[in-house]
Formats: sequence, structure tokens, C-alpha cells
Amino acid sequence: MSQEQATRYPIVLVPGLLGFVKLVVYPYWVGMVPALRRGGATVIPVMVSAMNSSEIRGEQLLGRIDEILRETGAAKVNLIGHSQGALTIRYAAAKRPDLIASVTSVAGPNHGSELADFFELRFPRHTARGRLLNAALLFVGWVMHRLDTGYRGTRLPTDLDAAHHSLTTAGVALFNRQFPQGLPQIWGGQGAEQVNGVRYYSWSGTLQKGRTNRVLNLLDVTHISCQIFARTFTKERGQSDGMVGRFSSHLGTVIRDDYPLDHFDIVNQSLGLVGKGANAVALFLEHAARLKAAGL
Ligand code: CA
Repeated sequence: MSQEQATRYPIVLVPGLLGFVKLVVYPYWVGMVPALRRGGATVIPVMVSAMNSSEIRGEQLLGRIDEILRETGAAKVNLIGHSQGALTIRYAAAKRPDLIASVTSVAGPNHGSELADFFELRFPRHTARGRLLNAALLFVGWVMHRLDTGYRGTRLPTDLDAAHHSLTTAGVALFNRQFPQGLPQIWGGQGAEQVNGVRYYSWSGTLQKGRTNRVLNLLDVTHISCQIFARTFTKERGQSDGMVGRFSSHLGTVIRDDYPLDHFDIVNQSLGLVGKGANAVALFLEHAARLKAAGL
């Protein structure tokens, strides 16, 4: 077995909104876990509330980290969060930097999501269509919870309004005032490499005509959704992955912010259906090797 990804500390994978560990046989992190393990890493995909605030999810994550440290005997963990998972891990690292070796944001809305802003504006929760959307999301969340074969713990609390507020530009601005660790000082810049002993990294992608909308993504409903969602962006028009803007994703050392990967491709969803010239699993392998080289 290769040891290229044999990081010193376990790698904990934290999903985003409507996250899961495994839907029947379909994992959230498609292909990542076996690939990282083949490289010698200890990898643990965890579950936090599928719909809740980043703070509540972060508290749940801190509980899981305690368990993982006990089970593995490790002193710290490397956290990788996708989408809202990025805010979740930032919270955990801000609260307990002593337990966290690194925070890596993958397509994280670190300055909010313009898609969430659009929904707040166009589907206010007191209106009929706002209530309909909420009911639909809660139903989807319930079905996904029933189908999750990778998480066997107790039912985690759901608060859709809190989840939504945790993703809007205004909501994340509030979050950022309390938990600014690793954020860039200027829009589009890089953040600090290290804060309170925790390394910060990020990467993200953008929709690119002729690349992301090619080959297998033509069959992927999540890609078609991203193309529709991208139209709601104004500040970062043409510079989003469908759910998060390119600069909004910046945190710590920005590894790259324009991979030809939509918001789901970046974790190899759905089932490895991605566009042209993209290999999301390879990015995780490279990153684990980077963490290892940094002694993390
Ligand atoms: Ca896809």
C-alpha cells in the first residue's frame, strides 16, 4: 500500500446542506474515501444536521471530534468541509484550535452564497411559495435521512430557517465577525496560512462552457441545476460553480479557485458524473499529500 496520503492526523470529511454519509449505496464523497485510504490516510466521513445553522452543526462536529480522538488516539484532526461543511469546520477550529491541525474549505460559501440571497428575496418564508419550498426541502431531508445507510446515530435536529440564514451573504457576514480565522482581508485575496496553530486552505471551481457542461455532466441533474442556479448570481456573475462564487470561497491559502468543476462535481457527485478535464478525487489525493508534507 502506498503511503503518499498517510497524514499524521486523521482526515475528517464534513458534508454541506442536505449532507449525508451514504444514501443506500451512494456515498457523499464519491470515490474519495477508498482512494485516500489506499494512500495510507485514516479517513472518517461524518454526519452533522443536514439542515441547521453552522454553529449547531459545528457543536455537533466538536462532539464527533472528541469521539474520533478517543477512538484513534490521535491528538488532532484535519478537517475538510464541502459547502456549508466549510463554515461548520471553521466554527469547530475557532472554538477548539488545539484539536484541529487544518481546515480545508472545498467550495465553501465563506462570504455567503448569492443563491441563498436569491431564495431569501424571491421565496420569503411567510409567503405561500416560501412555505412550499421549505416543505419540499424538509421532505427531501426526511427521505435522505431514511435512506442514509452510512449514519446510524440518533436523528439530528433540523432547522431550515437557521440553515438558510447561515448561507446568505448577510448571515455569513455575521458569522465571519465572530469567526474571522483564515478569511482574506481583501475581496478576492488569500487569507492567513495559519491562525492559532491551525492551517487554513481552500479550493473551488467555476462553471466553464465547453468543459463543465460536457460528457457525463450532460446526464447529471445536479449539473443542470447548477447551470440554472448560476443565473441568480449578480456580484460574481459568470464566476460561480452554480451555488458559490469564486471569490466567496476564498479561505487561507487558496490552492485554486477555478477548477472546471460545478458545486457537486467538486466532491465527484453525482456518481462521478463530471465534465471534461476534471478529476475531483485527484484533488483530494494531492491535498492529503500536501497535508502530509506539512507534517499535519
Ligand atoms: Ca456532476
